[in-house]
Amino acid sequence: MTSTPILYWARRDFRLGDNPALAAAAASGAPVIPVFIVDEVVESHGAAPKWRLGLGAEVFGAALEGAGARLIVRRGRALDVLRALIAETGAREVHWNRLYDPASRARDEGVKAALKAEGIAARSHAAHVLFEPWTVETGTGGFYRVYTPFWKAVRGRDPGDPLPVPKLRAPGAWPASDDLASLALGAAMNRGAEVVLPHLAVGERAAQARLDAFLENGIDAYAEARDDLARNGTSQLSENLTCGEISARTCWWAGRRAMEEGRAGAETFLKELVWRDFAHHLVHHTPHIVERNWREEWEAFPWNTDASRADVVAWQRGRTGMAIVDAAMRELYTTGRMHNRARMLVASYLTKHMLTHWKIGLDWFEDCLVDWDPASNAMGWQWSAGSGPDATPYFRVFNPETQAEKFDPHGRYRRRWVAELSANPPETALAFFEAAPRSWGMSPDDAYPARPVVDAAEGRRRALAAYESRGF
Ligand code: FAD
Repeated sequence: MTSTPILYWARRDFRLGDNPALAAAAASGAPVIPVFIVDEVVESHGAAPKWRLGLGAEVFGAALEGAGARLIVRRGRALDVLRALIAETGAREVHWNRLYDPASRARDEGVKAALKAEGIAARSHAAHVLFEPWTVETGTGGFYRVYTPFWKAVRGRDPGDPLPVPKLRAPGAWPASDDLASLALGAAMNRGAEVVLPHLAVGERAAQARLDAFLENGIDAYAEARDDLARNGTSQLSENLTCGEISARTCWWAGRRAMEEGRAGAETFLKELVWRDFAHHLVHHTPHIVERNWREEWEAFPWNTDASRADVVAWQRGRTGMAIVDAAMRELYTTGRMHNRARMLVASYLTKHMLTHWKIGLDWFEDCLVDWDPASNAMGWQWSAGSGPDATPYFRVFNPETQAEKFDPHGRYRRRWVAELSANPPETALAFFEAAPRSWGMSPDDAYPARPVVDAAEGRRRALAAYESRGF
């Protein structure tokens, strides 16, 4: 049996089970050296996703130790670190699971080409989505721009069976590792980290427990409950899926089994998992979705692009005076997450009522979301703004007040997050002021804005006028 080790480069796949790259490395019988690199792509992440990735790496490191291995942590440009590890360990092979966003792809393509040129086998595997983006094709061999036909194309497909946890062989000597804590991936979280932390469920075990709890208690009512802002009616798995602490196909098969058992919300759950795949399909085929209007004609739209404007700052801090928007923005800052319906609502308010470029909202989410995913975030923003594929029609402007009446009829969600609305605000609403930077100068005793920065009806009129003047 060879003693030449193989490197397994962990990125967004912090799991032992159903991990094709780890399984392939282990199957060779060679010793496996797992490595996590705080590289150029990780360094570019916003505060919350970078911190969350570090927490995921920490738990994954402990899981590897339980399996007789280790997670070697290094900081530096990915290629430089891999080259150094190859030189130190004598490894001749590197395995990783593929990612599809432009930044990861550019890095990975560069790494693969350079390693190959140096005689090192660089092997990438399918693991992050249900179906590789280029394997889902229209009848004419193109890619899908609309979700429903995409869903129809994949709903009967077999994503393959999840792989078992591999047996890992340790190398004769482990290379040195940086101490993850000393890399301070949470540095930009400031005092928010302590407030957000209790809302997280980090690691493979926690992810599986979330899936189990959802199957046990959530899936039957999911189709209706998922739109109820005050209810915890969804799986909460996005945070784990984005860090790869559970595989999409593990979730898929759980949903399929539930469907066969006749559980009511199961098909809706599968459809949501496929929205995630659709986002990755789009980011693969049209990578500009992460930075430019997906529809060319929107490039000429006169968006407000000034992120320092008072109304934009009010939106970020949950001080617009539109209570449903403020509740959602404070939920985001306090928990690192936001209800899906609320994401659509705040995105619509920013891009339509406030006529502000979706990129400003996308960047704020990238800084605050623990489930930040470059593909789903970009698709969600462009969908909401009207500039994206399969978008909500640009002229359909969500009315935040009627949305609030419909999806938060008793005001529970608003009171949960906006302290100024209650004489005795709940802990959840007060926690926001613990997380918010002191420099924002916010206090629960402040008077709530008497008028919204943009009135519901006036915002709609303005948006429609702007669309009309552009000839849309
Ligand atoms: P569930 O309802 O339990 O759904 C199960 C899984 O399906 C989710 O975990 C998620 O992986 C996937 N999913 C569900 N809805 C969507 C969707 N609309 N698009 C893509 N995948 C979906 N999701 C992210 O994971 N990361 C993001 O950065 C992100 N940014 C968004 C930004 C905007 C403006 C909008 C409108 C949506 C965004 N979403 C994002 C999609 C969605 O809001 C979250 O996936 C969902 O709220 C996660 O909660 P859950 O895990 O309980 O979902």
